[in-house]
Amino acid sequence: MCARFLSKTPNDLFIVMWKSSYRDKIVNIEKTLPRLKLSLKNCDLCFRKCGADRTKDEIGYCAVSADLFVYTSGPHHGEEPPISGKNGSGTIFFSHCNMGCVYCQNYKFSKEGQGKKISIPELSGIMLRLQSDGCHNINLVTPTPFIPRIVEALGYALSSGLNIPIAYNTGGYDSLEIIKMLDGIVDIYLPDMRYSDNIMAKEYSNAPGYVENNRAIIREMNRQVGSLKMRGGVAVKGLVIRLLMLPEDISGTEETLKFIQKNIGRKTYISLMSQYYPAYNANKYKELSRRTTKSEYDRVVRLVHSLGLENGWIQPFSDDFDPDLAGENLIPT
Ligand code: SF4
Repeated sequence: MCARFLSKTPNDLFIVMWKSSYRDKIVNIEKTLPRLKLSLKNCDLCFRKCGADRTKDEIGYCAVSADLFVYTSGPHHGEEPPISGKNGSGTIFFSHCNMGCVYCQNYKFSKEGQGKKISIPELSGIMLRLQSDGCHNINLVTPTPFIPRIVEALGYALSSGLNIPIAYNTGGYDSLEIIKMLDGIVDIYLPDMRYSDNIMAKEYSNAPGYVENNRAIIREMNRQVGSLKMRGGVAVKGLVIRLLMLPEDISGTEETLKFIQKNIGRKTYISLMSQYYPAYNANKYKELSRRTTKSEYDRVVRLVHSLGLENGWIQPFSDDFDPDLAGENLIPT
């Protein structure tokens, strides 16, 4: 049955003072949640569409059953400047992942499943705590396999006064239909565009059909929220596309940049990341067992400028890059 969140607001005065967008979000959640929950019975929450009946604790590729698992949460200062802002991005790292990247830098919780089982009200409480800590947004990292639970928790949090933007931070192997359902609920999309060749996507992320689907969801995200909008230097709505450069152009970053320029537009905010290092199982692949070189990096940066892409950030190239500082050293394009 559909949860009713509007009835749970603290008092009428609060509703009057509330920005209409948050009430609209609750209405959208009430409309969307029953369909999202249906997905758990025959899971089609991501493009893999395993069909696992997760209401009966069956697990699909992502190894997520019916429960919610969170690895950690807190203010994160390593995202792009308008996402982190001064007080940090209210980041919630979910355990598990629907992709299978052999070089996963978050493998402890994404692939090995480290994390803690929490309830929907507890997740709602985390969101409210991040807001009261001064975070500028709720940053849902790898939310895809949990999206019905997250949306339900969001409904409760909104009804208790959550009023900061919601950011959806994904590897980009989502279901287009599910992304369409998040229209009017998510404010900021932070998707990866990992590959421009399906052979690479299959080989290194076990993500068949990644490219066309990823491009379709990027178009949909852009349709929903458009280019990044900021208030006082802090993001309030919009799309930032993340491009992790892999060695030997395994990521096909150049092709992806051309796609963005032609189909999403020169004003699109991009975040070009040079932070790749061989993590998890990357050393089993000779081509992935090194960082990107300066000449590979320079080539991509030159292309960003020659394509006239105007907005975003480029992570400087550094031989002694500290993975713990990922994102803190981004410079404007
Ligand atoms: S979210 Fe998980 S179970 Fe559902 S389709 Fe994707 S990989 Fe399969």
